[in-house]
Amino acid sequence: MSGGDTDQTSHRLHIVVPYRDREAHLRLFLPRVTAYFAALPRPIDYRVTVVEQEAGLPFNRGALKNVGFLLGEGWSGYSCLHDVDYLPLEADYSRVEVPTPILGHGVEKRPVAPGRSDRTVTTDVEQTMGGVLLMPNQVFRQIDGYSNQYWGWGYEDFDFSLRIRARNLPTGRRMGRFEPLDHDNDGFTLEATPSAISLVNRRVFRELWSNGKLPAGDGLSSLSFDVLDRRLCDDGTPAGRGRWEHVVVRLNHAPRPDQLAAGAG
Ligand code: UDP
Ligand code: MN
Repeated sequence: MSGGDTDQTSHRLHIVVPYRDREAHLRLFLPRVTAYFAALPRPIDYRVTVVEQEAGLPFNRGALKNVGFLLGEGWSGYSCLHDVDYLPLEADYSRVEVPTPILGHGVEKRPVAPGRSDRTVTTDVEQTMGGVLLMPNQVFRQIDGYSNQYWGWGYEDFDFSLRIRARNLPTGRRMGRFEPLDHDNDGFTLEATPSAISLVNRRVFRELWSNGKLPAGDGLSSLSFDVLDRRLCDDGTPAGRGRWEHVVVRLNHAPRPDQLAAGAG
C-alpha cells in the first residue's frame, strides 16, 4: 500500500500558498494560520508550502499550485490551495471527500486599488472556486491539477472549475469567514474595467476550450519545474515548528507573446 492510502495520511492537510512579492501579507499570514490551527478544538495535522516563483516572468498561479501539490502529495490526503491574502477567522479545514471552496463571508467586495481608486469588484462567494479551496488529492490528480497556461492574472480558477464540471464531479461548499488583506487588483483598471492581461487570459481560456471539449495534456502531467531553494520558515513558535516550508521554483515553460506584452504581475 502506498503512503497516500493509509488512514493516517488521508487526514493530513497540505496547504499550498502560491507566492511572490507579498512579503507584508506573508508576515501576517504565517503567525495567524499557525495560531488558528493551534486553537482548533479538533486538531488537524497540517503542513504549509509557500511556493514562490522566481523573478522574471509574469506570475503563474495555477502552475505554482501544481508545484505545491506535487511537493506535498505523498505526505497528505487532501490539499488546500490558499491565497496568502485571506486570513481565517472561522473556517472548516477538516478533511473533504469532494472539491470544497471554503472562502465565504468577509471577502465579497474588494477595492481595485486601495488609496488610489474608490472602485470595488464583487466576488460571488456562492460560486467562486478561487481563494481558499480544499481538494482531495485523488481528485486533484484525476483532473490533472490546474492549467499551466495562465500567466499574469485571471481565468485559471474558472478553468479549474470547468475541469471539475466537465467530468461531472460533485463539489461542496463551506462558507468560512475570512479577513481579506488589501492589494492592487491586477485584473482591473482604476475604473474597475478588465485589465489588459485579464482580457488576454480570457482569450487564452476561450482558445483552450474552443472545441467544447476538455483540453488534455495540460496540468500536472505536463509541468516541468526546478526547485531553486527550499527551507523551513516557521515563525519560531512551538505550534508552527516544522510545519512551514518556503520553496522557490523556476517554471520551465514560457508565456505567450500576448501575455508578456500585457505584462501584469
Ligand atoms: N500572488 C502573489 N504575488 C503576485 C500575485 C499573486 O503572491 O504577484 C498570490 C497570492 O497568494 C495571492 C494569490 O496569488 O493571494 C492571488 O492573486 P491576487 O491576490 O493578485 O488575485 P485576486 O485577489 O485578484 O484574486
Ligand atoms: Mn487577492
